[in-house]
Amino acid sequence: MDPVTGTDTLPMGLLRGFGMRHGMDVPAQVMTPDIAHQLVVMATVWDVTHDAIVLTDGANRIVAVNPAFERVTGYREQEVLGHTTAMLASGKHPQSFYAAMWGALQSEGKWEGEVLNRRKDGSIYPERLRITALYDKGSGEVINYLATFADLSQQKAAQRKAVRLASFDQLTGLPNQLLLRDRAGQAIAQAHGAKHQMALLVLDLDHFKAVNDSLGHAGGDELLRHISRALVSVAAPTETVSRRGGDEFVFLFPRADVANLRLIAQRVLVALADPFTVNGREAVVSASIGVAVYPTDGDNFDTLLTNAESAMYQAKDAGRRCVRFFTEEMNQGARDRMALVGDLARATKRGELRLHYQPLVNLVSSEIIGAEALVRWERPGMGLVPPGMFIPVAESTGLIAEIGEWVLNEACKQIRLWVDQGLGQLKVAVNVSALQFRQGLLEQQVSEALRLSGCDPRLLELELTESTLMVQPEEVMAVIRRLKQRGVQLSIDDFGTGYSSLAYLRKLAVDKIKIDQSFVRDLTVDPDGAAIVRAVIQMARSLGLRTLGEGVETQVNRRALQVLGCDYAQGYFFGKPMPANEFEALVRRNSA
Ligand code: C2E
Ligand code: MG
Ligand code: MG
Repeated sequence: MDPVTGTDTLPMGLLRGFGMRHGMDVPAQVMTPDIAHQLVVMATVWDVTHDAIVLTDGANRIVAVNPAFERVTGYREQEVLGHTTAMLASGKHPQSFYAAMWGALQSEGKWEGEVLNRRKDGSIYPERLRITALYDKGSGEVINYLATFADLSQQKAAQRKAVRLASFDQLTGLPNQLLLRDRAGQAIAQAHGAKHQMALLVLDLDHFKAVNDSLGHAGGDELLRHISRALVSVAAPTETVSRRGGDEFVFLFPRADVANLRLIAQRVLVALADPFTVNGREAVVSASIGVAVYPTDGDNFDTLLTNAESAMYQAKDAGRRCVRFFTEEMNQGARDRMALVGDLARATKRGELRLHYQPLVNLVSSEIIGAEALVRWERPGMGLVPPGMFIPVAESTGLIAEIGEWVLNEACKQIRLWVDQGLGQLKVAVNVSALQFRQGLLEQQVSEALRLSGCDPRLLELELTESTLMVQPEEVMAVIRRLKQRGVQLSIDDFGTGYSSLAYLRKLAVDKIKIDQSFVRDLTVDPDGAAIVRAVIQMARSLGLRTLGEGVETQVNRRALQVLGCDYAQGYFFGKPMPANEFEALVRRNSA
C-alpha cells in the first residue's frame, strides 16, 4: 500500500504519461493529501471510462493507454508503447484525410471526427475520435496529444438494424411500402426529367387465405418466402419488388413501357406457375396483377398505387390468374363494383337468385340423364345477370358461402320434386367453388341440403374445378371422401384448363370428367384438338371414369365426341340453361 495516497496502486500509465516522461515528476514528499486525492480521481476515470484513451508525446509516439483502449483495440499496453498511432490505421482513409486532421491539430489544437481503425485481430471498426494537443506553458511546444475514442460498431449496427426494420418487411426481407414510396418518388422524378415512363405493378395472390389456412401459419410464412424469391428472380437489379403486407406485392419499374410490361407481367405469372414445396407438400398458387403507368395513369405514388390496385381487382373479377392494365374506365368500374357488392349482399335474402338447368345427355341413348344447375341473378333494373359477372366478386367478398348454400338447397329441393313428380331419377350437378371448402362449410351445407329436401344423395353431383383441388388438397380430399361415402357424385369441371394431375383423380374416386368447351370446339377444326380429347377419354376409361363433353353446339361436335367414345355431352345443341319448368317440358318431350 502506498503510504501517502492510501491506494494500493497508482495507475502507472497515467503517472508515466503525465509525469515521469515529461519532467512533471511529482516527488512523493510534496504530494499533499489534496493532490494525491485528485490524482486518484483522475486515475479512476482513466481506468473505468468506457472511452479508450491514448496519450502520445509530441511526436505522436504512444506513451500511455487506458484499459478501455486495450478492450477496444485488442492491443496490450506493452505492445503499443513507443509506436506511433499510425499502427492503428485501417488504410481506409486517403492520405489527405490525415493531412487535414494534422492541419486542424496544428492550427486549432483539437480535432474531432469519425475514423475507421483496425484492431489487433485485423477487423476494422468505426470510432468517434477526439484529439486534443497539450502544450508546454513555457515554450508553447506540443508535448502530448490526448486522444479519446469510442467504438461505434455496436451503435452503427443498431442504426443499420433500425433502418432495416423501418424499410424492410420482416418476413421476406423485401423492401416495405415505406421504402417503396421513397424509391417510387425518385423514379417518378427521374421519369419526369428524362421524359420516360415508369410503372407500378400490384400483385395479389389468388385465394391465399385458403392456402394459408391449409398450410398452417408457419407453412404460410414459408410459402410467402418462396414466392418472394420467385418474384425477385423475375425483376432486374434496378427494379424493386416490395411486400405490402398480407399476400400483396408491388413491383416498381423505374423505366418501362406498356409493351415490355406485358411481357414482364406474363413472366411473373409463369414464375408462380410451378408448385412450391412447403413442409414436403406441394402448394399451387396463382396471382392477379394490375399495372399503372406514369404519367398516363397518375403523376404520384398514391394515385399510381390506387390505380394499379383497381386494375388488379379487375383481374380478380375476370377470373384471376391474369393481368390488367389500368384504364380510366376502371375508376367507373371500381364504383360499379362497389354497387354490385352492395346489391349482391342482399340478393339472397331478397330472393333474387334463380337456378337454370341445362340438360346433360347420354350420347349413346340420347336420353336426358339430368341437368347442370347454373345460377342467375335477377338484379333489379339489370335483368338476368350471368354467373361470370358476379361469382368471382362473390368469391372475393366471401358472399359465395351464402350463395352456394342457397344453390345447394334449391338444387336438392328440385331433385326431390322431380322424383316426386315422376319425371325420373334426374341427376343435378351443382358447381362448387374453392372458397366453399373453407371452415368445413361445404360438408355442412351439403348435409343440411340433403336432410331438408330428403333427396337421394346419388342424384346430387358436385362439380369441382382442378384448381379447387389444388388449393387445399388434403382438406378438400377429406371432405370429398366423406361426401362420396354417402353416395354424392363427383365430377371435374372444365377439365384440361387447370393444373391437371392424374394422381388426385384416382385418389378422389372421381366419377366424371367434364372436358372443357375449348377442346370440344377444337375437336373438328384442329387435329391436335381431336388428339387431346381422344387422350383424355382413353385416360378416363383406363381409370374407370365417365366423360362428358361441354359446349356441344352442333351435330358435328356431337358425332365427333360419340365416335371418340365420350359418354355424355352438354351444350346448346341439346338445350341452353333454362328455368325448371322449361326443363321439365323438354324432358317430357324427349321421353315421349
Ligand atoms: P361451367 O360450370 O363450366 O358451366 C358451363 C357454362 O357454359 C355455362 O355458362 C353454360 O351456359 C355455358 N354453356 C353450356 N353449353 C354451351 C355451349 O354449347 N356453348 C357455349 N358457348 N356455352 C355453353 P354460365 O351459366 O354462364 O356459367 C358460367 C360459369 O359460372 C360456370 O361454368 C360455373 O363455373 C359458374 N357457375 C354457374 N353457376 C354456379 C354456381 O351455382 N356456383 C358456382 N360456384 N359457380 C357457378
Ligand atoms: Mg360446371
Ligand atoms: Mg364447365
